[in-house]
Amino acid sequence: MTESPTEVDAALETVVTELGGERREGQHAMANAVSAAITGDSHVIVQAGTGTGKSLGYLVPAALHAVTENKAVIVATATLALQKQLVDRDLPRMAQALSPSLPRPVTFAVLKGRNNYICLQKLHGAIPEDESDALFTTQKSALAEQVIAVREWAEQSPTGDRDDYPDDIDPRVWRSLSVGRRECVGESRCSFGEECFTVKRRLEAQEADIVITNHAMLAIDALEGIPVLPEHSAVIIDEGHELVDRATAAVTSELNVPMIERALSRGRKHIDSRTYEMLQQAGEDFDDCLRLAAEPLAGPTQLKPVGSDVTLALTVIRDACHQAITEINADKESKDPESLAAKQHARGAIEEVHDTAGALLAGDDFDVIWLDPGEGRSPSLKLAPLSVAGLLREALFAKSPVVMTSATLTVGGGFDSLVASLGLSDEQVTTMDVGSPFDHAKQGILSVAKDLPAPGREGVAMEALDELAELNEAAGGRTLALFSSWR
Ligand code: SF4
Repeated sequence: MTESPTEVDAALETVVTELGGERREGQHAMANAVSAAITGDSHVIVQAGTGTGKSLGYLVPAALHAVTENKAVIVATATLALQKQLVDRDLPRMAQALSPSLPRPVTFAVLKGRNNYICLQKLHGAIPEDESDALFTTQKSALAEQVIAVREWAEQSPTGDRDDYPDDIDPRVWRSLSVGRRECVGESRCSFGEECFTVKRRLEAQEADIVITNHAMLAIDALEGIPVLPEHSAVIIDEGHELVDRATAAVTSELNVPMIERALSRGRKHIDSRTYEMLQQAGEDFDDCLRLAAEPLAGPTQLKPVGSDVTLALTVIRDACHQAITEINADKESKDPESLAAKQHARGAIEEVHDTAGALLAGDDFDVIWLDPGEGRSPSLKLAPLSVAGLLREALFAKSPVVMTSATLTVGGGFDSLVASLGLSDEQVTTMDVGSPFDHAKQGILSVAKDLPAPGREGVAMEALDELAELNEAAGGRTLALFSSWR
């Protein structure tokens, strides 16, 4: 059964009434357009201004479609804040409100990349630490203390999700307790496969009607062809203004000396000493080339062409890594889970260096290669496609109906620039601006507090908070204070 626009209107009305809200025409227009796109196998871009209630504007038609057709819908956001809002607030309330009118309850799940979850094999020490990682686990330092705190939390956590940890986590600490796609041995060969947090989240996502994920996961699934998302019938992209940047970041390759050192450290026990020395020497040569080239640079700079010394170092790195991978694969004796995990850990790090060096060597006129001097860190060589438009068209829009939305999508009053950046023509996508229910000029007062001190490292100045309190009092409450950072 395919839901008609009136069903969408009725369902939206039910949910909004249940939540104590009032009818907003823009929200209904959006919900019907979203429904038409996902049931009619087409694409729609909706600019929905503040106050439209755009999340329900797409969640309600997505839920109706998913439940009646038994086909999952992916919802991708750019920020964790929106992801949390959808999962903690909008979805549970919508599911409850729709429950009496649907043949079964709407289900939903969150899916993030593997490295967002604790790896139980690492947590239980089944994978040896890198030498560099081991340093801070043995030192009496803030990092060592954080490792202990995160480990204690992980032992109790039902999710193992980094975002559920109540504090910031140093990336080095998190890296010592998580794995990337390449380093995971795979659930069937892992001693903790059945309890693995990532595996559990994936299974939940496979059963869910609505799967909440982020732009990066969507880009990896679509653009890199790595199937990380469950089968789905439609994709909804909220905070769509971020998609092109996030997709570009997801397909950007990066190579630096710490990556080579990590590969060496993990590979040491598994590869021949001559191969080890060849990669070590190539890494040192690469380091010299990058540091020399980075010296005069004030910031990231395109290398056109890439110098012959860099090309030579990359070639040796790629070939040494290839040899190392061959040697690791040739070892058929290690069969116990710990040895397999250690081998996979080494192979993953070496493969990453190998593939990135190969991609940098294969870069052509459709790619851009640049040197990031690193500002106090190691310089990095990076590669990205000049444009992801073609990739998005072929790998995302050609596969399933796509709904893109945000409060700000138009440039100069039109959608042309966005549509072109997605690799689409006007005929391939419907665009609409449902406006905002607020008359900002009449309903709001814009206050520009010019005399306040600029925000600094210490956070918001007391003067700013005093000003905010005064404004709040003057408005009799009814104030939303929006910050770009909560610190
Ligand atoms: S399956 Fe992979 S991610 Fe999960 S515990 Fe095992 S090694 Fe870690």
